[in-house]
Amino acid sequence: PFIKDRQKAEDISAVYELKEKLGEGSFSEVWVAQHRHSQRLVAVKCIHKRALKGKEALLENEIAVLRKVHHENIVSLEETFETPAKLYLVMPLVTGGELLGRILERGSYAENDARPVIQQVLDAVRYLHQLGIVHRDLKPENLLYESPREDSRILISDFGLSKMEEQGVLSTACGTPAYVAPEFLQQKTYGREVDLWAIGVISYILLCGYPPFYHDNDTQLYRQIVEAEHEFDSPYWDSISESAKDFISHLLQKDPDTRYNCEQALQHTWISGGEVLERNIH
Ligand code: ADP
Ligand code: MG
Repeated sequence: PFIKDRQKAEDISAVYELKEKLGEGSFSEVWVAQHRHSQRLVAVKCIHKRALKGKEALLENEIAVLRKVHHENIVSLEETFETPAKLYLVMPLVTGGELLGRILERGSYAENDARPVIQQVLDAVRYLHQLGIVHRDLKPENLLYESPREDSRILISDFGLSKMEEQGVLSTACGTPAYVAPEFLQQKTYGREVDLWAIGVISYILLCGYPPFYHDNDTQLYRQIVEAEHEFDSPYWDSISESAKDFISHLLQKDPDTRYNCEQALQHTWISGGEVLERNIH
């Protein structure tokens, strides 16, 4: 079995009613579910074990790790269920939608609106890195707003298990490695630095509304990424501060050793010296 501790013998349907499918990936689905007794709504990620053949030990380990993660900017794992075919991960339901949706709606974010988003992500990723966890799949689809409010807290989701999809990371939904770090593309060994690269890409997109690395031709795209070749094009970046550009360039460093770590990024003046942050994030 995948779940060693606190294993639930009962089927999830005795406890939760699965109501509506929120999303579907290559090896999992996410549902809104209702706790039958308390009526409380939750999100349930259903993982098809069949798709994980040979990686059971890895998954078992990841779930043990996920249980230990408690941070205000990370979607927590509440409980798990297991049947012969499926594994169910119960999480709090968040209702604010994906960061991607808001970027598409707004076009781009003003610096003062982008800053708290990036700061919260950095704070959560620093916590994960301290626990020895690398997310590996940070992107605006995996950053969820807790509520529809404009000042809603942002939460990281869908992590840990990304290790399960080794090939999946390179060939994401649309076939673009938009958030993937140079060392990953070059199949060098890679570590926590890949998360900082992804935060650099996300910061870039938030501020201008388009990705730093883009090419119709995959070979050209790979080359751009491997060279960390990014520009702050006119006129889109003309009104954006030098401090923001400097922050992003320290994250989009080709060499993982010179790339900022979470601590350095949090201390950069664009983050720490910006407008006083709204402390009571709802
Ligand atoms: P996948 O491996 O398919 O990417 P995710 O965990 O990223 O799985 O979930 C897919 C989508 O389901 C997310 O992008 C988000 O829109 C939605 N989702 C995931 N977790 C939650 C949650 N806790 N509350 C609300 N929606 C969620
Ligand atoms: Mg996802």
